[in-house]
Amino acid sequence: METGPGLLVVMSHPDDESMGCGGLILRHTRAGIPVSLICATRGEAGWSGKPLGAKKEDLAQIRTGELEEAAATLAIGGVELWDYPDGGVDRCDRQEITQRIWEQITKLRPKAVVGWGPDGGYGHPDHIAVGACTDIAVTSMAEGDRPALYHLAIDQQVADFYKEAFRLSGDGQQLPLVVQDRFDVVFDLDPDEVMMKLRAIDCHRSQLEEWRIAIRNHPRLMQQGYGHEPYLTISSRATGLTANGLLGEFS
Ligand SMILES: [Zn+2]
Repeated sequence: METGPGLLVVMSHPDDESMGCGGLILRHTRAGIPVSLICATRGEAGWSGKPLGAKKEDLAQIRTGELEEAAATLAIGGVELWDYPDGGVDRCDRQEITQRIWEQITKLRPKAVVGWGPDGGYGHPDHIAVGACTDIAVTSMAEGDRPALYHLAIDQQVADFYKEAFRLSGDGQQLPLVVQDRFDVVFDLDPDEVMMKLRAIDCHRSQLEEWRIAIRNHPRLMQQGYGHEPYLTISSRATGLTANGLLGEFS
């Protein structure tokens, strides 16, 4: 893979990268732009009895393997997987987390960083905490070294997708999604890209919830939800997408 300044994605759990911004990652890696990932936890709290035969105490190890597979599927060049406690990042040393993210930015020198915003997508405390540390790490870089910063966002189309997906699965579950009324950059994926993103999501076998199975026979719904990724521009020297459908930094 080509080396050089690229994109750094900072997430909280294995599967955030595929579910949250798999399309954005694919767009960039397919264009030869190196993408690196920081994942703050091993997702050991996400136990749902899957995959068949798995043991709860092995979940951290299982999800580590799943993340490696998904990262390979998305052609992510480097993964930094940390051991902060799943569900407890907000009680950890924020200065330390911020410092470690800062060090990665200093080492990798990405042109753009993508992270969770203060809504955490659906208020997840780990997302909010890692997002806040990412924001501070980026804004504390010297101006000439400072990468652009984007936040994941949820718009009405994505919120409607989740509502329909949960309805189809009939499990009564709902996520308290925070719908933004403003978003700056939207990736609409073509059907091939949606299938590639789905392949990455599918690597996370321990997280195969009922709704994810239920939408399989509904290609239009998958296109609506998986095929649509809105982002907020927090700071950027370039606006919107390039002619190739990449973040403005990569023109
Ligand atoms: Zn997450």
